[in-house]
Amino acid sequence: MKLAARMEKLPPYLFLELDRLIERQRALGHDIINLGIGDPDQPTPAHIIQALQAAAERPSNHRYPNYLGSPAFRQAVAAWYKKRFDVDLDPSAETVGLIGSKEGIAHLTWAMAGPGDLVIVPDPSYPVYLSQAILAGAEVYDLPLPAERRFLPDLDSIPESVLTRAKMLWVNYPNNPTGATADLSFFEEAVALCRQYDILLCSDLAYAEIGYDGFRAPSALQVDGAKDVTVEFYSLSKPFNMTGWRVAAAVGNPTAVGALGTLKSNLDSGVFTAVQEAAVAALAHDPFTFFKEQSALYAARRNIALNALEEMGMGIPSPLSTFYIWFRTPRGMSSSEASRFFVEEAQVVVAPGSSYGEVGEGWLRASLTCPTDRLIEAFDRMKAAMARIS
Ligand SMILES: *Cc1c(COP(=O)(O)O)cnc(C)c1O
Repeated sequence: MKLAARMEKLPPYLFLELDRLIERQRALGHDIINLGIGDPDQPTPAHIIQALQAAAERPSNHRYPNYLGSPAFRQAVAAWYKKRFDVDLDPSAETVGLIGSKEGIAHLTWAMAGPGDLVIVPDPSYPVYLSQAILAGAEVYDLPLPAERRFLPDLDSIPESVLTRAKMLWVNYPNNPTGATADLSFFEEAVALCRQYDILLCSDLAYAEIGYDGFRAPSALQVDGAKDVTVEFYSLSKPFNMTGWRVAAAVGNPTAVGALGTLKSNLDSGVFTAVQEAAVAALAHDPFTFFKEQSALYAARRNIALNALEEMGMGIPSPLSTFYIWFRTPRGMSSSEASRFFVEEAQVVVAPGSSYGEVGEGWLRASLTCPTDRLIEAFDRMKAAMARIS
C-alpha cells in the first residue's frame, strides 16, 4: 500500500530503539522505572470528577457538542485569563475550545502555513510544532535554545530573509523539555518582532501553573498589543492532572483563533460537553490552592533529582517550573547512548534529548511525574550505575 508522500517526510520515531531496549529488560524480569514521559501521576481533583459525573447524567450532553466550545466553557476560559493574567478576552471571538492543546497546535499550523511558507521552531522543542509544519508542507527554520542563554532564543539572530517569509514563531515558556522559564520582557521582545514582520506568535503555555520558589509564569498576552499578533494555548492537562480528558483552549488574536475554529469545524466535532462542564468547574472553583500543593510536590521531587545529579557530578541550575529535569549526558555519551546506558544499567528510562531537536543532542530529560518513592529509587539506581563506570 502506498501512503501519502507527506508521511515519508515525518522525522523518524526516535523512541523505537529505546522501546525495544525497555521490552528486553522487561522480558528479563527487571522492574523498569519510566521517567521518560511527562504525564502527571496524581489524580484529577475530586470536585472535577464529580462535575463530570453529574454532567454525564444529563441527556442534553449526549448530543454533539458545540464545535467551537460551549459558551460556558469559553466564558470560563475568558474569566480565568482575567483573574490569572489580567488579560481581557472576548469569549466568542478570542477563544476556541480544543481537544487538548496538541490538537490545536497541530491544526493552527494547517490554518496558517503551507508550501512556500516558513515556520520558526525552537530547537529543542515539543515535537508537534516541527512535525505539523513538515506535514503541512511548510519550510522550517530551527531556532536554537542555547544552554548559555538559559534556553532562551536569540531573536536577533534570525536572518531577515527568514523573518520576511515566516508565518509562525513558536515559543513555549515554561519550557518542555528544558524546564526554562521566561519573564514578560522576553514576550515583549517576541511580540515586537512579530508585529514588525507580521508573524503569528504562537505561545504554548502548557506549564503555566507549575512554579517553584515563588515563580509565577506570565502569559504572552500580558504584553501591550500582543493580541494583534499572538495566539496562546492554555491546556487543563498539566495543571489539573487531566491529560486523559482532552480539553484545552486557544486564545488571543481573533483572526487566527477564528481560522483555527473554521478548520476544526471541518474536521472534528468538539469536546464532549460533560468534559467541558467539568473544565468549567476546574477553572471556576478557585484552583490556586491546588496549584500550590501540586507545585510543592514537584518541587520536593525536583530537589531529590537535583541532589542526585549533583552527587553524580552532573549538577544543573534549579529549574523554576515544569516537571522536567534537563541534564547533560555523562562521559560525553550521545543522548541515545546515555538513555540506553540508564535502561540497561539502572532499568530507568530517561528521554534522549535528541528527540526534541539537534540542539538537544548530548542531553537527557527526566520527568518528575512518578511517585516520589519510585523517583528516589530511580536516582539511587542511576547513581549506582554511574559509580560502577567511574
Ligand atoms: C503536554 C504538552 C502539550 C500537550 O498538552 P495537551 O493539552 O494534553 O494536548 C503541549 N505542549 C507542551 C509543551 C506539552 O508539554
